[in-house]
Amino acid sequence: MPISARQVAAETPLARTRRARRMFRALRERYPYAHCELDFTTPLELLVATVLSAQTTDVMVNKVTPTLFARWPDAEALAGADRAEMEEVLRPTGFFRAKTESVRRLSADLVERFDGQVPPRLADLVTLHGVGRKTAHVVLGNAFGIPGLTVDTHFGRLVRRFGWTTEEDPVKVEHAIAAMFPRRDLTELSHAVIFHGRRTCHARRPACGACPVARWCPSYGLGETDPDAARALLTYELAPGAVLPDPPPGPLPDEVPSGGMP
Ligand code: SF4
Repeated sequence: MPISARQVAAETPLARTRRARRMFRALRERYPYAHCELDFTTPLELLVATVLSAQTTDVMVNKVTPTLFARWPDAEALAGADRAEMEEVLRPTGFFRAKTESVRRLSADLVERFDGQVPPRLADLVTLHGVGRKTAHVVLGNAFGIPGLTVDTHFGRLVRRFGWTTEEDPVKVEHAIAAMFPRRDLTELSHAVIFHGRRTCHARRPACGACPVARWCPSYGLGETDPDAARALLTYELAPGAVLPDPPPGPLPDEVPSGGMP
C-alpha cells in the first residue's frame, strides 16, 4: 500500500528525509540517463538556451539555437544583434519579442560587467537581465559542475505531490528540498525529478500505476492506477531491451527500520 497523506503529515523530518532519499534512488534507477535536455557547448549557450526555454519545450529551443549561435557566436555579437533578425530566429519559441530583448540585454550585461564571460557564481548570475535562481542553477549545475536545485514547474509540482514540502514559493521549495539531500546530489536530483514529471508524473494525468515511487507517494491515485493503462501514458524512452521495474525496489515506508539515514 502506498503511504497515505495522513502518514506523511505525521512524519518526522528524519523520516521524511529518509523517504525522499529512497524515492530519489528509485528515480535514479528509472532514469539513469537523466540530464539537462537543452543542447549547449558553452556556459553562454546554456544560459541563453535556458532563458529561451520559458513557455516552450527544450526540443523547440534545440531547434533554434544552432542558427542563433551560428549567426551570433558570443555575448558581444548577441548584444549587438539586429532586433528584427533575432526575432525571426526566435519566433518558433513563442514570446519571441520579449525573448529577443532578454537575450540582447543579458548579453550586454555580460559584455559590460563580466568581459563577455558567464560568471560561475549564483550572486553574479542573478544580476543579469532576466536571470533568476532557476536559470542560474541550470547553468551552474550543468556548465560549471556546481550543484544546485532547478525549481521549475515540474519540480515544484512533483515535490509537493511527493509530500516532501508544502511550500509554494520556488525559493522556499529550493531551500526545503536542498536541506534533505547531500549538496553533491542536487543537480542530479533536479534532473531525475524533472524527467519523472515529463515522462510519468504528468501534470494532468500522472501514470501512478507505472510509477517507480508509488509506494512512497501520498498522491498515488491522483492519476491512472491500472498498470496497463498507466504504461500507455508513459512518454519516455526506455533503453533498448529494458523493462519497467515492477514492483519498484525498496521496502514499504513502514518497513524502514529506524536509525541512520539511508
Ligand atoms: S505518478 Fe502518481 S504515484 Fe507517481 S509520483 Fe506522481 S502522483 Fe505519485
